Amino acid sequence: MRNLVIVLGDQLNDDSAAFDGYDRNKDVVWMAEAAEESTHVWSHKARIALFLSAMRHFEQRLTQKGHCVVYRRLDDFNNSHSLRKELLKSCEQFRPDKLIVAEPGDYRVRGELLQAAKKAGIPLEIREDRSFFCPVEEFKRWAHGRKQLRMEFFYREMRRKFNVLLDGGEPAGGRWNYDVENRGTLPKSGPGKLSAPLQFERDRTTKFVLELVNFRFTRHPGSLDNFDWPVTTEQAEAALADFIENRLPHFGQYQDAMWTDEPWLYHSRLSAAMNLKLLDPRKVVAAAEAAYRNGHVSLAQAEGFIRQVIGWREYVRGVYWTYMPEYADRNAMGAREPLPKWFWTGKTDMNCLKHTLRQTLDYGYAHHIQRLMVTGLYCLLAGIDPKQVHEWYLAVYVDAVEWVELPNTIGMSQYADGGVMASKPYVASGKYIDKMSNYCSGCKFDPDKREGADACPFTTKYWQYLQRHRDKFAKNPRMLLQIKNLNRMEPPDDEHLHSARPRQSSLQERTS
Ligand code: FAD
Ligand code: SF4
Repeated sequence: MRNLVIVLGDQLNDDSAAFDGYDRNKDVVWMAEAAEESTHVWSHKARIALFLSAMRHFEQRLTQKGHCVVYRRLDDFNNSHSLRKELLKSCEQFRPDKLIVAEPGDYRVRGELLQAAKKAGIPLEIREDRSFFCPVEEFKRWAHGRKQLRMEFFYREMRRKFNVLLDGGEPAGGRWNYDVENRGTLPKSGPGKLSAPLQFERDRTTKFVLELVNFRFTRHPGSLDNFDWPVTTEQAEAALADFIENRLPHFGQYQDAMWTDEPWLYHSRLSAAMNLKLLDPRKVVAAAEAAYRNGHVSLAQAEGFIRQVIGWREYVRGVYWTYMPEYADRNAMGAREPLPKWFWTGKTDMNCLKHTLRQTLDYGYAHHIQRLMVTGLYCLLAGIDPKQVHEWYLAVYVDAVEWVELPNTIGMSQYADGGVMASKPYVASGKYIDKMSNYCSGCKFDPDKREGADACPFTTKYWQYLQRHRDKFAKNPRMLLQIKNLNRMEPPDDEHLHSARPRQSSLQERTS
């Protein structure tokens, strides 16, 4: 054997650089299902099932093309359930001249492969992951020497470089960003009847995997009842077409809105397919731009969506690889509280959290504002240890891969990176949730109240958070208004705040 080409569970793309120069008479593809990948965080059943089903479909695709694939199944008799150990075994068995892999999406997995290769004494060639617009080295050069990284500037460079939504070299419509038009609230009567996203029938492979996951990972969180995620490239491309036709026309306008029992609203549900490399982000961006050019959607809708893919998605990956591994340990706000147990069950009286958590458990999905401004906001205001928050997010979403989850959690959501990802923490009181959703109308708490038995915990904790970090934020020009409002208020009565206040010892730790 010449090369053993390693394909990880989130690299399901046969155009990947790992296949450059592939010769099916000399090279062999290697794939492995390792239980450790589902247990190092307590993974949602749907997340495990999506990876396994998509991997097995990809193996079938490669085999149909005539490739020789060594595939270690989870239910194989002697599977050690460790990626490193399985690779080592295969190295000893086949003694290839070289191992080849496209850049893994997880620092830990990269380390495991390097360790296995070193132990086997076989060189490992790590090739660029071409499925992204911006190579890691290019991002590092862009970031180098900047006092502050800002997504907006990076996004403009990506638009220029890839000629996206440009007319004569200038942004279409004369503006780079239509964000102000992307914060619409739904009418009081709600979104009305929405067309359901395209569903994918479970074939034999998927049915088998669902049974396997239900059996092997019985005690893991979440349900498989609603599992209908695309598991092949063909399905992912059909899901993209369905989104462009039916939901993109309202995506931008309502991308921050939330509504009870409407998990998808106008969102694309494409993150998992892109992250597993079933769907090429270039095709996603091109389809959204074409929808604008042919008059199907307005510029604001198309731009609002394209910004997420060519902007945020690429930016967070750059942050991950620029700052890892120390980034994962950052805790700039000194948050030390444990993650509440009810994050795994959804059993809470706070209606916004109850709905977001139950939806997460039912589908393995919550859209961005539910993640950032409901679950994430709660953890931030309550001073939950960011590492525990990170482990929860990595476990419960079908699209969770560390390169994208970690900076979103540690940086954007918990402000634990001290301002690398965002220039200020995303903090708000319950009034924001009330404005953007219908959650508060069914809640026993009142979002306007910060004191009393029916005070909204978000509102109470919001003011406590600002109090705790007043000195730090006083130096941040983007926080001045919030601190000014805090200073204008009478300090709230200690007795009323007592029940919602974090343990005194940890509060002292944070403020000292
Ligand atoms: P849409 O709302 O339709 O957006 C379109 C696409 O834009 C997404 O599919 C996604 O690829 C991209 N995108 C949008 N926002 C972001 C962002 N902030 N970072 C990166 N890409 C973005 N996204 C993941 O893919 N995996 C994660 O593990 C993940 N963890 C997150 C954790 C937290 C705390 C937060 C605040 C956000 C996280 N996100 C993550 C980003 C975002 O919430 C999801 O990409 C999005 O909700 C996926 O749903 P969708 O495909 O319907 O997205
Ligand atoms: Fe959430 Fe507060 Fe609104 Fe209740 S009142 S739904 S806790 S924001």
